[in-house]
Amino acid sequence: MSDLSAFSPDYPAARDKFRDAARAAGAALEDFLNPAKPPPGHDGELTTDVALLGPRDAGRVLLVNSGTHGVEAFAGSAIEIGFLAGLSALPNGVRIVLVHAINPHGFAWLRRVTEENVDLNRNFLDHDGPHPANDAYDALHPALCPDRWDAPALAEMERTIEDYVHKNDAFALQAVVTRGQYDHPDGIFYGGKRPTWSNSTFRDILDRHVTGARRIAFVDLHTGLGGYGDAEMIGGAGPATPGGRRMRDWYGDIVTSPSAGTSSSAPLVGVIARSVREAARGADVISATLEFGTYPVRDVLHALLADNWLHAHGDLDSPLGREIKADIRKRLFPDEDDWKERVLTKGVEILNRTLAGLGDA
Ligand SMILES: [Zn+2]
Repeated sequence: MSDLSAFSPDYPAARDKFRDAARAAGAALEDFLNPAKPPPGHDGELTTDVALLGPRDAGRVLLVNSGTHGVEAFAGSAIEIGFLAGLSALPNGVRIVLVHAINPHGFAWLRRVTEENVDLNRNFLDHDGPHPANDAYDALHPALCPDRWDAPALAEMERTIEDYVHKNDAFALQAVVTRGQYDHPDGIFYGGKRPTWSNSTFRDILDRHVTGARRIAFVDLHTGLGGYGDAEMIGGAGPATPGGRRMRDWYGDIVTSPSAGTSSSAPLVGVIARSVREAARGADVISATLEFGTYPVRDVLHALLADNWLHAHGDLDSPLGREIKADIRKRLFPDEDDWKERVLTKGVEILNRTLAGLGDA
């Protein structure tokens, strides 16, 4: 049995618990202050916290990140805390950089997006050039993002989704919606037109603690895709590449690849791993999104659409507002012991496996 006290009920508790676990493990701590305001009733400010272990000049780095998608950090935070609690001696020549809540606003406000309404995992691209078009999303946007959240609007939304799935298929719907879009700042999976605070902060952390390493293993912790409690290591490298083969050696058959069509995720642009490769400057990089499944895609999507409407048009302090916030929390963090047990056990196991792999390499 894992110690489920690694999970926290909200962002402030998670931040405090992470800092305590880092200090207890002998880590140095840094924090980065987010300029947005915390929700009513939350003590303290919104910060991204970084725990650092091992020699600063070590050539190999284990980099772990939680909360790229805000509310998904309930799981990521617990995995980082559980990993810290079980940590013994580090392999020689390895250091650890644990980033807690890179999108603290999303975690605290129970949102997947940043304070700019941006999907951080679509924001890491070249903002000086043209942004990718997504015509299929353009057509769906008016029905998916209505001004009102009432029976006619919901019926129209349902009709539009059903129609699209009927003409294409369910994965095609997921692909066009989740791929990211850059033309509707009020829409879902909006990638933004400039780097967000979380993007700049993550790059700052990379500059300070990752650039210069010869070998980097990056694990980005997520929830919301796949079967309830199932783990998937979504790799950036194709299965036939050296990086892809090493991932299979380390993690076995939970490794998948969107480009090879074996993942529950569609291919994406602007993902956070891109910044790690850019900061690595020729180093050997293994990078993966560790995804834990929660509920069916349509249920998760519905929660995201409702939350998008709520923050644009609704009242958080109303019965409907509270219902929507409870739903998005549940859809990305099933607060049930069986789910938490599987996620924490597997998550910590994967981080330990990654650390051992780095030490062997
Ligand atoms: Zn995610």
